[in-house]
Amino acid sequence: MGDHRRSAACLAVGSELLGGDKLDRNSLTVSRALAGLGLAMTEKRVVGDDVEAIAGAVGDLVARHDLVVVTGGLGPTADDVTRDAVARALGRAIEHDPAVAGWIRERYAAQGREMPVHAPSMARVVAGSRPLPNLRGAAPGLLVELGDRVLAVLPGPPWEMVEMLERDVLPVVASWDPGARRLSRTLLVGGVFESDVEQRVRPLYERFGRDDVSILASYGVVRLVLWAAGDGPAAMDRLGEMERAFSERLGNDLAGVDLTGLAEAAVVGLRRRGERLATAESCTGGLVSARLTDVPGASEVFVGGVVAYSNEVKELELEVPLATLVGHGAVSEAVARAMAEGARRRLAADWGVAITGIAGPTGGTEDKPVGLVHWAVAGPDGVAAAHRVFPGDRSVVREWSCNSALDLLRRRLAGLG
Ligand code: ATP
Repeated sequence: MGDHRRSAACLAVGSELLGGDKLDRNSLTVSRALAGLGLAMTEKRVVGDDVEAIAGAVGDLVARHDLVVVTGGLGPTADDVTRDAVARALGRAIEHDPAVAGWIRERYAAQGREMPVHAPSMARVVAGSRPLPNLRGAAPGLLVELGDRVLAVLPGPPWEMVEMLERDVLPVVASWDPGARRLSRTLLVGGVFESDVEQRVRPLYERFGRDDVSILASYGVVRLVLWAAGDGPAAMDRLGEMERAFSERLGNDLAGVDLTGLAEAAVVGLRRRGERLATAESCTGGLVSARLTDVPGASEVFVGGVVAYSNEVKELELEVPLATLVGHGAVSEAVARAMAEGARRRLAADWGVAITGIAGPTGGTEDKPVGLVHWAVAGPDGVAAAHRVFPGDRSVVREWSCNSALDLLRRRLAGLG
């Protein structure tokens, strides 16, 4: 490798990614994977299903980056034009590849499905490229070597993309500069603001270097990512040393290491105790349950939940006393406590977690403003409750609520209050 610092770019293709509904997530996956190999993504773009736009972006990016990963637009339909655009950008022809046609035929045959009329178009490859088999879908990918640079063209569906990325693209990057590999470890912190975390760990920057630590915050969760150069025993040792030093600063606010989120921290805590959880959710409408069931193996510890939006459901399904609902209002500590106990009792679980609040944008009053949320955790040794007025719009308030309740739960599971 030369002495310039290598860079990568990602191009997400898909008109749906430019509308108001869907975000490009593939570039996040690619970026994370490359970071582990010490290759920084320094640019990303999103373009619609348009040959000119894709060709323009590809031409521009391959001129300036060592690795360009394009995702999407490889399917058989008329709006899947990425292949043609890449051929145009590189000034190459499109060829029919009989071997790729064979893969596609076999895939449909193996599934016992008739091959759609347009499927053979996926056997069109850019001249001089290496076709990449798709083990999780129909559309093959392409790898083009341009001197010491690489252009990888991968399918749009994330599950297909990631398999091809790991199998065919990352090994190429890893071979460029084995010395650039980095290991990382993520400390998950719950119930603390990003600025507090920064304050507490700042003294450690001197010892470990500011560049090897990044702090990422998201509505009630802070992720502290620690990096160590290399991938051998020395890097492992350094990472272990960093983990110990940072964990000590975080104390009981550390929810776990290399966890996907606070739901996983809760599942880990429940599994450790061999106990089971039920949920009762009002303003979060099942978000906590969804997060818990995102965690593989959640069925061992999560029994189910009640989305108790109306007072009737709170009363009938969770046995919240009518007098409590009327006397305190649905958004109150008393109701949150009763919901948590009700979920625990009615669903025969060891633990019950409950959330009731005003997510907005309407429904607030002077006493109970938009963003006011009460949550409670009922367990074998009683009920704990907390509340806050969260800033933000409806989805942000729900996100804060979900994380705050899960954090209280994981603390109680760890015997922390
Ligand atoms: P196929 O047509 O076989 O599904 P494709 O390569 O043509 O594959 P697209 O049609 O572009 O892929 O995308 C398929 C689906 O994958 C999209 O509907 C979208 O849900 C998802 N997807 C595509 N690109 C992205 C992206 N950058 N981030 C997240 N999801 C994506």
